[in-house]
Amino acid sequence: MNSITDLLDLEDNDVIISNIDVQGQTKVLTLETPPTAHFCPVCGFRMYSRGVKKRTINHPILQDNYSFVLILKQRRWRCINPDCHYSTNESFKFVNKSRRMSNATEMLIVSAYKDLMESSTSIAKRFNVSDTFAHEVFDRYVKLDRLSLTDAISVDEVFLDMDDYCKYALVIQDFHTGDPIDLLRSRRTNVTEPYFTSIPIEERLEVRYLISDMYNPYIAYVVRYLF
Ligand SMILES: [Zn+2]
Repeated sequence: MNSITDLLDLEDNDVIISNIDVQGQTKVLTLETPPTAHFCPVCGFRMYSRGVKKRTINHPILQDNYSFVLILKQRRWRCINPDCHYSTNESFKFVNKSRRMSNATEMLIVSAYKDLMESSTSIAKRFNVSDTFAHEVFDRYVKLDRLSLTDAISVDEVFLDMDDYCKYALVIQDFHTGDPIDLLRSRRTNVTEPYFTSIPIEERLEVRYLISDMYNPYIAYVVRYLF
């Protein structure tokens, strides 16, 4: 049954399911590779198996309302050459060596952020990870650089009916070209202050004109952040 590779979108096609255990709504799948002769990548001698390490991998892809837990039986190998003794753990392409989570899960987390109604908190809850982790995954895969400030920038708000706390997002544009320099999730000081102060002072001092409506906090940006 190698439809496991299709089912879980796994790249390793020599992976076999050696056990399936259903506990309530959770299916526990044990995955391993068939034992094959291993040769040392360093010296070419044969390697012997030092046993199997079990790793539990979070792979929350749901199928028919079941959640999956994957147990990986990872073989450990050691070179028989006494001058070498190189040892290695079997690796599986679909899971990073040091993480307890499949790569596919990370892509699902990134993809979940496409829905503007989602937050790190709601995504974290669904994938059973911490808020910080969800946010860190997003940052790792998605690079959202801002443009540089120019000598004339305009600031304005956009009404976002997303949550009660952040009703207005702040749009910063290059006044000459109209290019959006950045978009902040809120125009509140607790968002704008760390944002502007994180921009190097030399860059902020380049700004000679700030174009805005008569909203006092915007006018105050000139002395607060750009001076
Ligand atoms: Zn060796």
